[in-house]
Amino acid sequence: MLHVCLLAAALSAQTAQTAQIAQTALSERRVAHDIFKQLIEINTTESVGNTTVAALAMQKRLLDGGFAPQDALVLGPDPRKQNLVVRLRAKSGAALRPVLFIGHLDVVEARREDWSTDPFQFVEQDGYYYGRGTQDMKSSDAMLITDFLRLRREGYLPDRDIILALTAAEEGGDNNGVEWLLRTHRDLIDAEYVVNPDDGRIDTDHGRPVVLELAATQKLYADFQLLATNAGGHSSLPTPDNAIYHIADALARLQGYAFPVELNAVTREYFRQMAAFAGGPAAADMRAILETPPDAAAARRLSADPQYNSTLRTTCVATLLAGGHAVNALPQRAEANVNCRILPGHSAEEIRLQLVRLFDDAALAVRYRNDDGSLSEHGPAATAMSPPPLRADVMESLRRIGADLWPGAPVIADMEDGASDSLYTMMAGIPSYGFSGVAVDHDDRRDHGRDERIGIGSYYDGVEFFYRFLKALTSPRAGHAPP
Ligand SMILES: [Zn+2]
Repeated sequence: MLHVCLLAAALSAQTAQTAQIAQTALSERRVAHDIFKQLIEINTTESVGNTTVAALAMQKRLLDGGFAPQDALVLGPDPRKQNLVVRLRAKSGAALRPVLFIGHLDVVEARREDWSTDPFQFVEQDGYYYGRGTQDMKSSDAMLITDFLRLRREGYLPDRDIILALTAAEEGGDNNGVEWLLRTHRDLIDAEYVVNPDDGRIDTDHGRPVVLELAATQKLYADFQLLATNAGGHSSLPTPDNAIYHIADALARLQGYAFPVELNAVTREYFRQMAAFAGGPAAADMRAILETPPDAAAARRLSADPQYNSTLRTTCVATLLAGGHAVNALPQRAEANVNCRILPGHSAEEIRLQLVRLFDDAALAVRYRNDDGSLSEHGPAATAMSPPPLRADVMESLRRIGADLWPGAPVIADMEDGASDSLYTMMAGIPSYGFSGVAVDHDDRRDHGRDERIGIGSYYDGVEFFYRFLKALTSPRAGHAPP
């Protein structure tokens, strides 16, 4: 009888413990949900949004969660574009330099009429969370805030400070937060290396993990203005010399043009590894482009996939168009914006000159658009940075945690096809790596697009990922040494 009682007591203690764990997981999930919802519903677009509101909301959570005021700062040069910098302090006597996580708080414009739901409402539907920033990149911001709070609550003491900077104006506009912090408050965010979840993703196919992409190098971002002007006149007397036609001709040439295929150390390795498990004709094509010279037909077939295409070459695409001033007048002015993502080793000015040669139209001006929107006759001569060496601690942590959360998918270092704030940290001499913790189906990338969404399970996996990743990077373990 006694034995039965003991057993019953042990069982009920175990049940209570299991219930406790389930309860913790549930409340953790609630916090993660609420932070994400709050961030999505604060409009942080350049036009009417305000990253300060988002930064202050996160600061309040951190202060409520026990962070000291000097470790959770909100600061910036523009009242509408403040940045949040939070520091989880290392145990006393820690000698290692900090690791810095960066994430942008601002989002790309989104119009209600383009979307099925209000882009600034956090909508849960069909297994997804919808809203502007669910992919790019308030999901990762929310994951990191959730995990900072959890580590703080657990009293976790890392072996180096972990800094998180959530910043303004990554997507456009002036007063980029990372650039400003590096220039004016370097001490606040100085680090041995950077992890930027704006880059690198978990690529899935119908939810099945395919590959974990670690962004190890970046393309260079550049915008060019194409401008045609004309005397204009009455539309009843048309001539072929028409500002809109000049722009249309140039864009038609651009549409038909592909920059040359060019591989670097990271992209060669990327295709070599991808070929190992891609299978089918794509694998054969990947091997064929690694030959010297690369097989042109294979490159052409791979280029049909926008992702592979952007890995193979510099890309330029028309993104904005405007022209004319009246329905019954010849246009006096027409312009377009061409957005380019330039391979490492090339400069914006080099690409501008290539565009000028391609358009071959003396009536057309091709100008470089600066970050603040102003125009220059020439682009910067600086070339995109070459890749930093891969860190063993980052790679190993990613492989180990990735194998748990996204089994079967290898970690592959690759070149980010967008451009992120890692450009600034890299230029400041801080090696920077990108991994988002966000799993998105290969054909469901909606960053900057309409009805942006993230799978609900994908979001909570990311919360768990960063919790483990932050600890793995900052807990000394056997065989776990910095490079
Ligand atoms: Zn982004």
